[in-house]
Amino acid sequence: MGCSRRRNIPLCSGGGSIPKTDAEVNGDSPDRNWPGAGGCHRPGEMIKYTNVHISVAGPLEVHMSPELAPEEIAAALDAVAMDVLGSAGIHSPPVDCLQLARALGIAVAVDDSQPGRARYVRLRSRRSGPAKPAILLSGEPRAERRHWAVAHEIGEHAAHLVFSLLAVEPCQAARNARETVASQLAGRLLLPTRWFLPDAEQCRWDMLALKSRYATASHELIARRMLECAPPVIISIFDHGELRFRRSNLAGRAAPLSAVEMECWRAVHTLGLAQQEWEGTRTIQGWPVHEEGWKREILRTEAAEFGVDV
Ligand SMILES: [Zn+2]
Repeated sequence: MGCSRRRNIPLCSGGGSIPKTDAEVNGDSPDRNWPGAGGCHRPGEMIKYTNVHISVAGPLEVHMSPELAPEEIAAALDAVAMDVLGSAGIHSPPVDCLQLARALGIAVAVDDSQPGRARYVRLRSRRSGPAKPAILLSGEPRAERRHWAVAHEIGEHAAHLVFSLLAVEPCQAARNARETVASQLAGRLLLPTRWFLPDAEQCRWDMLALKSRYATASHELIARRMLECAPPVIISIFDHGELRFRRSNLAGRAAPLSAVEMECWRAVHTLGLAQQEWEGTRTIQGWPVHEEGWKREILRTEAAEFGVDV
């Protein structure tokens, strides 16, 4: 597909240099004509986005700059993700990231010889001309992993817009900032806050309803994005009967598994059916992700009032 919707966005003069990609095979800089978030922001200028749900409370592990509030970073990530989707003409879920890449003028090719799931490169044809962005994708059989891998590489490609919007010099950010920005963008391309939050509230955070609407996102990604939304929650993920992940979106460590959470998990694990339990002010939802040879359960524990210890 062509990229007729692409438009030229001037980058901020004070927005810092363009970060280098992992795999600029020809050593040139990334595409400066990437469809990006409109408007320029001077360093220190307050960023305001209307009608954007800002995910504030999540463990936003982007170490961009100590002067930036997590809300500002989340708003910039949300704005860039929405702009990337909008510029590709995608306005509702599920987001097909391969289609998204192509609409943005990024070629996607399968390359089984490469070590990772995907790689972002810039290819130059034999005849001289501008290098073209491309994503080399391994033959990953799981569709959600393919979408995630491509979404991450689109995130790599668009990361400079987030730096630019926040007026952060990439060289002054933490070493892993660009990689983290790419992953955060990937999550927001598959589950954009502006769509995901109202949908999640409407279905009362029902994982299975969300999964059917956002089919290209994995259950785990949906669970992790729940941590980036405002209601105070703990997400627990069990694989083959073992607790593998447990995290709260409030400061500090998540409380240990309670007896009622254990009971809920056991019922989901054994019956293979979604369950819901109540424990004081807390609501515990559990869902099975059971496949041939793989048994995962996801628990979401929400406190009724903000500030209640979860
Ligand atoms: Zn990466």
